[in-house]
Amino acid sequence: MTPLVVVPPEVPGDWLASLDAECEVIVGLDAVPAPRLSEVVGLLSLLTMPVGPGLLARLPALRVVSNMAVGHDNIELEACAARNIAVGNTPGVLTDATADLTMALLLASARRLDEAASDAREGRWHTWTPDGWLGVSLRGTTLGIVGLGKIGYAVGERARGFGMQICYASRSDHPEAEELGARRVAFDELLARADFVSLHVPLTPETQGMINRDALARMKPGAILINTARGSIVDQDALLDALRAGRLRGAALDVTSPEPLPPDHPLFAAPGCLIVPHIGSATESTRRRMAELACMNLLAGVHGQPLPHAVVRG
Ligand code: NAP
Repeated sequence: MTPLVVVPPEVPGDWLASLDAECEVIVGLDAVPAPRLSEVVGLLSLLTMPVGPGLLARLPALRVVSNMAVGHDNIELEACAARNIAVGNTPGVLTDATADLTMALLLASARRLDEAASDAREGRWHTWTPDGWLGVSLRGTTLGIVGLGKIGYAVGERARGFGMQICYASRSDHPEAEELGARRVAFDELLARADFVSLHVPLTPETQGMINRDALARMKPGAILINTARGSIVDQDALLDALRAGRLRGAALDVTSPEPLPPDHPLFAAPGCLIVPHIGSATESTRRRMAELACMNLLAGVHGQPLPHAVVRG
């Protein structure tokens, strides 16, 4: 029997063309006729789709959840494991795009691009002045990378090119960090030393709220926080207070909690705060590669084979 899989309506159909030869594809869970829910063996999910016991209960034959993201905090892994449902993600292919965006945010914050561009556009650019829109030079400053995984390392490589010193805090030692001249330090030391703190840990119970009021208070006065990991890693109320008080020079967030952040959220108006709509991996080639990997995982899972990129618990 041809396996029945469900894909999200948001993904362009031609990115998922490899499924057509081997599966019956229904676009959107809501489009699956109720009697056919019990036939669904594969689900391609996005990070915006919570996958937990409620959803799984509707899909009793499900064999695989293939997330089109490297992060998988939207999926309850225990619930999947209890049903022997394989879970896949798309690591690696989005590393460069996300690291590029991280550097774009870092540079934009350091050089006040958002403020300068709106001043130019809105008539506040009267003349060249020696002390207008002064930012921070990167050479010689310290970047603190929290989570030296694939993206954290790729950010370090880029930051080296700008003459930055690098330190990192991670669960384990990373010998490859020597190539970056990077030193592993305790989290508190990183906060105290870094002019820029960039977050690259997954969202887990341990990392949720990791950048809380206490952590923000330990950051170097005038430092800049960059978050391209997940919104809930940062206590946004505490961040707002730190920005308003001028404790931090700025923050650049690709991810927030919730997403989207309501346009009237006070962080949008906080001094030095730049927020973009979760575009870390948003290049066309990257998103196509993510879809390709998600299809490979989905096909392997529906055929009962090991996933090329399975999420490992723990
Ligand atoms: P990765 O290679 O698995 O790296 C994550 C690193 O985080 C690991 O090296 C791990 O450290 C470290 N880590 C985990 N828990 C930690 C903790 N409690 N304290 C300190 N370090 C911890 O993943 P990646 O591909 O770099 O992606 C990282 C995250 O970025 C993803 O989980 C996702 O949420 C986010 N992301 C966002 C976007 C976007 O569009 N903004 C795009 C892609 C990914 P050890 O190796 O030392 O154990």
